[in-house]
Amino acid sequence: MAELSPMMKQYFKIKSEHEDQLLFFRLGDFYEMFYDDAITASKELELTLTGRDCGQEERAPMCGIPYHSCEAYIARLVKKGYKVAICEQMENPATAKGVVKREVIRVVTPGTIIENSMLDESTNNFICCSYLDEHACGLSFADISTGEVYVTELGMEEVEYKIMNEAGRFSPSEVVANSALSGRRQVMQFFKEKLNCLFDVLDDGYFESEACIDRVRHQFAGTDLEKLGLIDQPAALKSLGGLIAYLYDTQKNGVERLMTINLYNEAQFMNLDLVARRNLELTQTLRSGDKRGTLLWVLDKTKTAMGKRLIKSYIEQPVVNPTIITKRLGAVDELTQNNVARQDLMELLGGVFDMERLMTRIVYGSVNGRELKALAFTAEKLPKIKELLAPFHATYLEQVRESIDPLSDIAALIEASIIDDPPVNLKEGGVIRDGYSEELDALRDVVQNSKKYLANIEATEREKTGIKNLKIGFNRVFGYYIEVTKSFLSQVPEAYIRRQTLTNCERYITQELKELEELILGSKDKIIALETDLFESIRMTVASALHRIQATAAAVAKLDVFCSLGQVAVKNHYVRPNINLDGRIEIRDGRHPVVEALGSGPFVPNDVILDKNENRIAIITGPNMAGKSTYMRQVALIALMAQMGSFVPAQSADIGIVDGIFTRVGASDDLSAGQSTFMVEMSEVAYILKNATDNSLLILDEIGRGTSTYDGMSIARAVIEYIADKKKLGAKTLFATHYHELTELEDAIGGVKNYNIAAKKRGDDIIFLRRIVRGGADDSYGIEVSKLAGIPDPVIKRAHEVLRALETGKTPSEPKRNRKAVKQEENMQVSFAQSANDQLAEAIKTVDLNTITPIEALNKLYELKNLV
Ligand code: ADP
Repeated sequence: MAELSPMMKQYFKIKSEHEDQLLFFRLGDFYEMFYDDAITASKELELTLTGRDCGQEERAPMCGIPYHSCEAYIARLVKKGYKVAICEQMENPATAKGVVKREVIRVVTPGTIIENSMLDESTNNFICCSYLDEHACGLSFADISTGEVYVTELGMEEVEYKIMNEAGRFSPSEVVANSALSGRRQVMQFFKEKLNCLFDVLDDGYFESEACIDRVRHQFAGTDLEKLGLIDQPAALKSLGGLIAYLYDTQKNGVERLMTINLYNEAQFMNLDLVARRNLELTQTLRSGDKRGTLLWVLDKTKTAMGKRLIKSYIEQPVVNPTIITKRLGAVDELTQNNVARQDLMELLGGVFDMERLMTRIVYGSVNGRELKALAFTAEKLPKIKELLAPFHATYLEQVRESIDPLSDIAALIEASIIDDPPVNLKEGGVIRDGYSEELDALRDVVQNSKKYLANIEATEREKTGIKNLKIGFNRVFGYYIEVTKSFLSQVPEAYIRRQTLTNCERYITQELKELEELILGSKDKIIALETDLFESIRMTVASALHRIQATAAAVAKLDVFCSLGQVAVKNHYVRPNINLDGRIEIRDGRHPVVEALGSGPFVPNDVILDKNENRIAIITGPNMAGKSTYMRQVALIALMAQMGSFVPAQSADIGIVDGIFTRVGASDDLSAGQSTFMVEMSEVAYILKNATDNSLLILDEIGRGTSTYDGMSIARAVIEYIADKKKLGAKTLFATHYHELTELEDAIGGVKNYNIAAKKRGDDIIFLRRIVRGGADDSYGIEVSKLAGIPDPVIKRAHEVLRALETGKTPSEPKRNRKAVKQEENMQVSFAQSANDQLAEAIKTVDLNTITPIEALNKLYELKNLV
């Protein structure tokens, strides 16, 4: 260390506090990285690696990026899973004595991003903190870009599944936890492989009980933790306390943005694990991960970024409370009835900016003039939105109207203070409007009118002194001066101070001129400094309205979602579902919302009835491609839509609230994790049997397919028997299968009903009717479907032969060899048939039907049959 330059000593000291992070070390206009950080960054960002002489024998590897374009580089590094510590110069290098003071002002991690350019406006970016001990698991999720905080505590039963379910619900991009969690392999694998998030263990110090309580009390000063019930959930409290500490570690400022704790209980929401979310293609398609082709794609007609995030969370977190569902439906319903008002509202919402994220930047101090303007522009829309809402009386719409603060003070302040089209950068000045600050106006006046002022002074001085050719001039060394030629020196007043003597004139200054000079020269700097101060105080005033703005933003988001759902309901001809509590799902002419919207052809609607008695389990048979899985998903999606508060694609729908939807559908994407298809299938089934209740809805597609027929069928049957048994499970279930034998269960077990999706054969072809009807299917039409799929004719023909043989209990004949052989064989068959016919004909001719006895006739028939 002794040889190091003082700056590098400073570097090492700071780096030692940020070892697991890439340190961006500010040097003038650049952020520089050194040593291993430089090597890593140069590789990841494709930057040139250089070196810097820092007092040691070898030059230190170094690479740098210009400070003004750092955001894009940081974004790339964070996306790759790095944490970036930003170390700034804390004093002006020009005036600093010795090494410039530097400090890390922020550590950017995937879960703590606030920059718009790094965030997707339609998705929340959560960071999760988990605290696990032997009694419970506390989970806290925060999105610091919007200020949302969700906290829950899970019991120890099946805790790993529950953690994964909750994490699946919020999809955090970063998880921090106490060490106990890192021992749970399955959960770790889930975080890393399924959620693709950064995981870190925090020291036990972060979770020390008293400190956590203090931290939480301090952060959420207005919240009564006793009343909220958080105080009775120590694990939840510790997870939140740990999270706040971590955020202060990395953020240094702005964490005050988090203000309200949403303490929730997992039972408030429908139980939907990641498998079900993916299978039902709620927000991403299975194949490509796109939004197009998902339920979100169909339902999201929101106009604001806040609405986009909220509708996504409505879809991802359907509720089970009938009151909430009914109130949401009530709001959507009323909006469907007033097309004009709804469309006007949507148009206004189109002009609403992302207030939540704007507020974050305002609180953090990283907001610019344009963004403040965007807030004002938004605020201007609010009174009109309130007005349009006046005729609506649905509870939630009234609540929205009451919660929207017109923010006229904020709009007026910004309107009065910021120019119409402000520059992005505050450093150049020119952001504050004329007339807002007298001081600023005076300064600007000075700059703009300096010539006029000087002319004024010149005229007054001439008049006062009587020196006719007195004039004011300027040079760089002496500044402004009054010049008097030698002949008038006697008339120069006492107050003039001599500055310079030239051959035929003298130059003076006066107190007044000096003051003006200071004004003019200093005013440019002063203008910028003053504008910065004014901007800062405007920012602070707006920031102090955080609560009001936050509440307004939340209300606007809800309105946006209700309008979107109303719009879709009208456009797509959905109906309001009735919500019941007796566990009955009865849908008439239901449609699949996504398949219908993709619109490749007319959609054939279908009914469904599931209840807690005679119709608990529907066993669905029918050929491949008939529409079994479409039908089953459609039922699940309709139930889910109803429970998020949406209208549904059907003629009518009566939806008994389900506490969870569980799916076991098709191929899984888990093969990469080294598990066989069958293992994955069975572990999913195991999970369902353990976690579903008699209020759940199960979608099971071809259970048992991954093993031999008898094994598979036995497992499938045992699973149905278990689910059907009310004492064991009794869940409502749609069960698609190829095992026609399972249709026997209808007679054997109560609550089981057979259905099939009708198809008709026409010759070798198959016609799908897409209609679900009672009873088992009589055929699987596998060969006909293969033909549709383009399997070559000879294979199809041969398959038919094999099938016929198998059906008659014979061993299939040898396959035919080649075309020539086939031809010969066909010829042989023809001639054989010919000769058999001849003999037959002869034999029949010899029979005298008038004399023959019945017994002789029977014997004759026997003989004849032998001839064929
Ligand atoms: P299965 O699960 O029986 O093999 P799918 O549910 O995958 O069949 O359906 C096959 C195809 O038929 C899908 O492409 C789907 O778009 C279409 N389809 C299914 N049900 C309907 C329906 N009721 N109306 C129109 N098209 C349908």
